[in-house]
Amino acid sequence: MKLCRFQPAILPAPDSRKFTETHPGPRFGIIEGDSVREASGDFASGWRPGKQAWALKDVKLLPPSVPSKIVCVGRNYAEHAKELGNDVPAEPVIFLKPPSAIIAPEETIVMPSISRRVDHEGEIAIIIARTCSHLGTQEDVRPFLAGITCLNDVTARDLQKTDGQWTRAKGFDTFCPFGPVLETEPNMNVAVVETFVNGVRKQSGRASEMIFPVDVIIKWISRMMTLQPGDVVATGTPSGVGPLQAGDVVEIVVSGVGTLRNPVVAQGS
Ligand code: ZN
Repeated sequence: MKLCRFQPAILPAPDSRKFTETHPGPRFGIIEGDSVREASGDFASGWRPGKQAWALKDVKLLPPSVPSKIVCVGRNYAEHAKELGNDVPAEPVIFLKPPSAIIAPEETIVMPSISRRVDHEGEIAIIIARTCSHLGTQEDVRPFLAGITCLNDVTARDLQKTDGQWTRAKGFDTFCPFGPVLETEPNMNVAVVETFVNGVRKQSGRASEMIFPVDVIIKWISRMMTLQPGDVVATGTPSGVGPLQAGDVVEIVVSGVGTLRNPVVAQGS
């Protein structure tokens, strides 16, 4: 199932004269072909389809959850660690992006003027379904996961190098696009993440190539911080990271999920 959050652009839905809401807010929905049907429920107990449906062209898709935090794994693909001159880590390298960095599909990535190199990092992101704390080594993590989506871990590469720690380089406003939908039954054995800039493929990696697979990452993070429903865990980027320029369009494609598309502008333009 493809779950989304969305905001309707028009009212009422043409097939429903009884619908009287005048200022529709964000809501969850289930994708049905080229339409979206609103859904009620939550990540832990699941989703039930409602009565109202909209054409996809009449809604704005939003990031598919509202996380309390975004936990990212660095250097989780051997080729990517190598391309930046790093060793393959002995245990997961994690860092946080602030929720204030989140933008929706089609919204604009703003390159800060104090950085001379802003990179794309296409990643598979996990969304958490239920509270994870101190998961056991033998525990099955699958009931704790709502599914996967696309995420762009936009990074000011020059500031990452000069700062030593990564909060500034990874934390600018607009540096965390994710979406457009959450695939609730992903096949991680065959999942592929690709990045395209202006239609040219720059990155491609298989989930099966991760140094630390999803179950190891989730258990490891849960031993230091409680993961809440809706939280996002970005699983690392494959090799091929590179700079973005004003005017570019960057797309992150995860097989079975879809395409996260964002234009890029320079600050102040
Ligand atoms: Zn990353």
